[in-house]
Amino acid sequence: AKSDGRGMHCFFEPAMGEEAQSRRGLEQDLRNGLAAGQFELHYQPVVKTDGGDISGFEALIRWRHPGRGLVAPNSFIPLAEEIGLIVPIGEWVIRQACATASRWPNHLHVAVNISAVQFRQPGLTEVIVGALAASGLDPRRLEIEITESVLLQDRNGTLTTLHQLRALGIKVAMDDFGTGYSSLTYLQCFPFDKIKIDRSFVSGVENNAASLSIVRAVAALARGMGMTTTAEGVETEEQRDRIAAEGCTEMQGYLFSPPLPALEIERRFLSAEAA
Ligand code: C2E
Ligand code: CA
Ligand code: CA
Ligand code: CA
Repeated sequence: AKSDGRGMHCFFEPAMGEEAQSRRGLEQDLRNGLAAGQFELHYQPVVKTDGGDISGFEALIRWRHPGRGLVAPNSFIPLAEEIGLIVPIGEWVIRQACATASRWPNHLHVAVNISAVQFRQPGLTEVIVGALAASGLDPRRLEIEITESVLLQDRNGTLTTLHQLRALGIKVAMDDFGTGYSSLTYLQCFPFDKIKIDRSFVSGVENNAASLSIVRAVAALARGMGMTTTAEGVETEEQRDRIAAEGCTEMQGYLFSPPLPALEIERRFLSAEAA
């Protein structure tokens, strides 16, 4: 495994022929990992562009593998989706994130990523309602992030679920906007509260005219439709200032903080408020 520079390890692509065996090994490892409680959530602060206060945190899963160290989600989420294990993993994520956020001050939200496979699972709303009830978290403090891939299949079912969630007070964000099978039709047909502008556009705002135009247009579009915007992957002060000038609502990125374990988040950002 090689390090990705953030203390996490990425698996190398297995050599041809070893692939099937390595996949079966990983699959068994994943199942064991879930049973053994090897998954953990790290949380990345989301800050308000206006004033710089923290508005909430995005929960991001990691796998504390006994032999491989801390494994990044891109190394195991795709396989977990393929074999359906994303459903129990995703349910654990929802319960864990709600339980953790219920310890935080009331004005802070928690955002959870929901994979398309999990979103289409019947009973998602019940799982979320159960997690809210068990934790006592106010539904208005929960956000779910879905990507455009959710919208490709079963549009009526998707619409029903989105309406159910929003009726509970949960906010819905479109993640990675502009990178998938984007269509403006989706924004017209599906009720989103928030658009997350992908890092690929944000990282270009300081030196790429096209990126800047896209960020500007998406921010204006969202404003016009009554949605907020979050710029992802803000790494420099110049990016932050450009993003602020374009009127995005919120920002997240390494400039503010990497994702951190809950205890570290509480120690660094919440200890004064929580006391
Ligand atoms: P995402 O939802 O788009 O999450 C943002 C990713 O960007 C995270 O990577 C985060 O650590 C990283 N990031 C944040 N700020 C910066 C920055 O300033 N620069 C750079 N270069 N990167 C930054 P991570 O944690 O490795 O997650 C990757 C993807 O895995 C996520 O992308 C999401 O699609 C998926 N994922 C993570 N947690 C979960 C989960 O609990 N459930 C599901 N279904 N998917 C998850
Ligand atoms: Ca996300
Ligand atoms: Ca994203
Ligand atoms: Ca992404």
